[in-house]
Order: sequence, then C-alpha cells, then structure tokens
Amino acid sequence: MHMLTLEQEINPWEAQAARFDFAAQKLNLDEGLWKVLRYPAREIIVHFPVMLDTGKIEVFTGYRVQHSVARGPAKGGIRYAPDVSLDEVRALASWMTWKCAVVNIPFGGAKGGVICDPKQMSMGELERMTRRYTAEIIEFIGPEKDVPAPDMNTNEQTMAWIMDTYSMHMRQTCNAVVTGKPINLGGSRGRREATGRGISVVCDHALKHHAMRPEDCRVIVQGFGNVGSNAARLLAAKGYKVIGLAEYDGGLFNPNGLDIPALVEYRASNGTVVGFPEAEAADPRELLVSACDILIPAATENVITSRNAERIQAKIIVEGANGPTTTIADEILADKNVFVVPDILSNAGGVTASYFEWVQDRMGYFWTEKEVNGRLDQIMRDSFTDVVSYAEKHKVNNRIAAYMLAIDRVAYTIQQRGIYA
Ligand code: GLU
Repeated sequence: MHMLTLEQEINPWEAQAARFDFAAQKLNLDEGLWKVLRYPAREIIVHFPVMLDTGKIEVFTGYRVQHSVARGPAKGGIRYAPDVSLDEVRALASWMTWKCAVVNIPFGGAKGGVICDPKQMSMGELERMTRRYTAEIIEFIGPEKDVPAPDMNTNEQTMAWIMDTYSMHMRQTCNAVVTGKPINLGGSRGRREATGRGISVVCDHALKHHAMRPEDCRVIVQGFGNVGSNAARLLAAKGYKVIGLAEYDGGLFNPNGLDIPALVEYRASNGTVVGFPEAEAADPRELLVSACDILIPAATENVITSRNAERIQAKIIVEGANGPTTTIADEILADKNVFVVPDILSNAGGVTASYFEWVQDRMGYFWTEKEVNGRLDQIMRDSFTDVVSYAEKHKVNNRIAAYMLAIDRVAYTIQQRGIYA
C-alpha cells in the first residue's frame, strides 16, 4: 500500500475502495455481494447550458451518483467546486451508503456535484445553474427515489431552488425532495447545526472513553464552514478549549481558548477569520500537527496524508469532513495509537437530521428543536457505542469497524430482498 503515488493516495475513490475491500475481506463477504457493493449502481453525467449575467452562455458539467438504494431512497448532498470529479462523487456516494447504514437510517447513498467556482458567480447565476442542473436530473430524484441535501458550497437557498424547480415540474409542492431547506419551506429545526452537534456528541463520548474531561481538553478545528463553525461553537459552550482554528486563508491560535461566538461575528462582518484580534496568527498547516487532545478536520478531503500523519500530536481525531484522512495516514495513525472517529460515524449527524426532516415533510407535522436534538443525540451516542464495541470485539480500528458494520447491514438487506432478474 505504501507503494502508492501521492496522486493515487489522494484519489478519494481509491481510498473508499481500499477500506471497502479490507472490511469486506474481514467480513468474509460473499463474492457476488462484494461485486454489487463495490461500485455505484447508477452514475449520471450532465452537460448543460447556463446564461451568465454578461449574456454569454456557459456549459457546466454536473454529476449525480447513486451508489445504493437497497435500504431506501438514495441520500446525499450536492457540492459546487472547481475540482469536483466523477471519482470524487463516486467515493462520496459510497460513503453516504455506509454512513446511513452506520446510524441505521432507512436510506441508500448518493452524491452530486457541479464543476464550477461558486465564489466567482452571482446569486442569479447560481440560481440558474441550480435550476437547470435540477431539471437535467429530474427523473432520477424524488422523495422516494433520491433526496439531495447541502454539501460543500451549497446551502438552504440552494435547496429551496431545487425544491421549487422540482415542484414546478411535478405541478405540486413536494418539499420532501430535498433536505436542508429553510425552516419556512419544510426544513427541520436543528438541521443546520446537526453535523456540528453530532461531532460534539461524539467528542463527549470519545472523552469518556479516555477518562478525560472537557475542561482539560484542547481542541483544534480545521475549517470554519457549516460543520467546523457549529462544532467549535457547541464544543466551546460545553467547556472544551478550542485553542486553534485553521482556515484556507490563515489560522488562529489562543492557548486559553478562542472566543467562538465573537469569532463567528468577526467572520460574518469581515468575510474571513484572519485578523481576529483575540488570537495569534498561525500557519494553518502547522496547526494540524500542533499539540492538542482532539483534532477536528472539518474542511475537505486529504488533509491528513503520508506527508504529515507522522507529526500529528492529537490523541483523538474526530473527522468532520468526508475523507480527510488517506489510507496510508490511517496506518501511520494506528501505529501511533491515535483514536480516530471516522467520518461515516462522526459527521453522520447531518444526514440523521436530514432523515428527521424527510420524515416530518412526509408527515406534514413538525417537531420542536428539543425533539430533534434529543433524537439526534441518542442516535449518535448509540452509533458511537456500536462502532467502538465492534472495533474492540473484532480487533480492528474504528474506521474498519464502521465499514464492517455498515457493509454487513447493507449486504443483509440485499440478501433478504434477493436479486431481481
Ligand atoms: N452532505 C452531508 C454529508 O456528507 C449531508 C447529506 C444529507 O443530509 O443528505 O453527510
């Protein structure tokens, strides 16, 4: 495995496939089911025109990959980024299948993406691109087929446009076609904070597992988007010391703990965390390998690789992003005895609250924030316990345990349903 080139090491599809193969082998998975689950069931590629504000036409490429619908409708976000690729969307779609199975919610896995640079686009251009992308994949999505949600660079507004476009075509309002909507359009209370909240619950249990207390726990967070900012805010409120924050354009360090609500406000008015007065400036790459108890990579893929894993000083890593750790880095971290809570468990709070949103939309009856949070906390707690006890029982690391648990659940469902022919 160490013979991989850096390009192979950071290909998210290779990373997913390597862990899948390893876990499937450990499970003694039937060869036929192995073939069924190793590749996505459906891959849609669309090239579509959008009128820019200048009056010029641009053609964008979008993907929607459905890895599995064995356990229910496909489920997963849509991301907008210049480096979106089919391999990345494939990996993210498979991770959604495993993630939904780890937390035992009745969904398969999917992911979508459009190659674009949202930072360079106006609201009007983003709206037209979103609506046309939705129209291009319209026969493949739906409340009972495939339910998109936000991911990198998409948000509640993006979901509102998708919901509206889909509803216009269906000639009726269908709010259950996407989750992560504004509350007024059938969104769920607590959904926006849910991924960060799930991470904070996982941190609580990881600390208990290590007989540590939040007050004595130094946390470094990478990324201050929806996931990183909410995780940091909720952890700070529970008494954890968030001593470092690494962003793409700079980092902050304060050994006494950053004032997260003040930082959230600072970022809202300045558009960046850089220059926040109550902290020292720090190199974001150095922050990843600085001394701390919990490291939360909550930005993007491949930030812990063969190049820096050896220097990581965190005792516990709780993955907020999807795929932040490469397979080679996994081995290095295991040798160093770092306790890794894998993405398909630790960031599953988002899709769990999405499940609650979908349930509420189909009932037409909405829950209080307390109900949402209570149910979310319980699912995260139970799933953490399931994965960690599975790992101990089968003498594998937490990531492989999560994959094994998930693959076993999906494979069992396929076996019970049988193969249609
Ligand atoms: N994009 C999020 C994820 O990667 C949420 C997906 C969802 O809510 O469907 O888990």
